[in-house]
Amino acid sequence: MDLASIFIYDTTWAFAAEILIRVTVMFTLIILFLRFTGKRGVRQLSIFELTIILSLGSIAGDPMFTEDLPIIQAVLIMSTVILLYRLCTWTMMKYQPFEDLLEGRARYIVEDGLLVLDKIKQGEMSHDEFFAEMRQQGVEHLGQVRTGLLETDGEFSLLLYPPDKIGYGLPLFPKQYQAVDQIEHGIYYACMYCGYVDYLSNPNQVCQRCENDGKKWAKALNSKIVR
Ligand SMILES: [Zn+2]
Repeated sequence: MDLASIFIYDTTWAFAAEILIRVTVMFTLIILFLRFTGKRGVRQLSIFELTIILSLGSIAGDPMFTEDLPIIQAVLIMSTVILLYRLCTWTMMKYQPFEDLLEGRARYIVEDGLLVLDKIKQGEMSHDEFFAEMRQQGVEHLGQVRTGLLETDGEFSLLLYPPDKIGYGLPLFPKQYQAVDQIEHGIYYACMYCGYVDYLSNPNQVCQRCENDGKKWAKALNSKIVR
């Protein structure tokens, strides 16, 4: 192993200077091209947008240090990608099915304090993932949530119940999201799989809503929203 070959190999002072110029030019071009996408900034990317960013990243990166890659080729490729992007966004605006295909649809995860069954059964999103989203928005249990919608960019939109409409629901914080092994009478329990709330006679009762084999129940909460 030769350290000099790992760090320097055949780099000449002349090529080092060329790299400075190449990087400066490509850096400027990337900013210009990203401005042409028409986006104001990046918070969350949809899959479609992520594809664009990834392909631009590779196209923009290689000419920075590849000696025999003229910048004009990169410009051509980036122009084509941006053109396709604009064409796609324009078509998405005109035809809903095309948008569904490229961006996906917003999906209901919670309705009326219960997890939407086919969504969790298809495994589109793990419990952990959307529980974390709801916790970050100050939700303590599902009984507080009227609607939870997963947007195409991965953001989570929530509509909450007013305090007087909050019912019992599945706790979302780890200390309360615990399976019970003994049943106390007169207390509501929530199915840890789908959020269904019920009185129980034994801790292994099958949930009548999701018929979950896990048969795990947590003590339901009905606390009001604090913030
Ligand atoms: Zn259930």
